[in-house]
Amino acid sequence: MLAYIGLGSNLQNPRAQIKNALNSLHHTDGIEVVDVSSLYESKPLLDMPGPNYINAVCKIDTSLSAIDLLDICQSIEDNQKRIREVKWGSRTIDLDILLYEQQVISSDRLSIPHPEMIDRAFVMVPLCEIDKEINVPLLGPVKSLMERINKLDVKKI
Ligand code: ADP
Ligand code: MG
Repeated sequence: MLAYIGLGSNLQNPRAQIKNALNSLHHTDGIEVVDVSSLYESKPLLDMPGPNYINAVCKIDTSLSAIDLLDICQSIEDNQKRIREVKWGSRTIDLDILLYEQQVISSDRLSIPHPEMIDRAFVMVPLCEIDKEINVPLLGPVKSLMERINKLDVKKI
């Protein structure tokens, strides 16, 4: 199964946090990381206080189910000592499953496509960098969804 994961960090050496998380994904049985975008820098959403974020998107080929993949993502977050405080608050690492094949999932723990992805330049710009031709289920081709994104919200680094 092809899936896309968005990674973000704004604490404790964000570049190293993202590199570590990618490394952990790469070393997980049932996951092959097939592509990784460039890193992008952006300001916190809604003028929240805190350092700038570094984000990236990776494409994986996986034999895991979407919910097992969420467990893996959350264990990587826990290993990197993410403490869940306020929603949208600063974090050492955040792994969000953006897309899982063309599946639509809506459960207590998991919403796919990730509900906020199409509004976020720090997701859409790196996603588009690795795959211009993909489709977001229910919402349409990434190419047309990009028209509503302000590309100036992120800076490739
Ligand atoms: P956010 O990423 O919105 O800042 P969190 O990372 O703290 O917030 O996630 C909160 C919850 O979101 C998690 O407990 C998880 O169960 C849920 N969730 C729902 N859909 C997804 C998804 N596609 N990827 C990752 N987490 C998800
Ligand atoms: Mg998250």
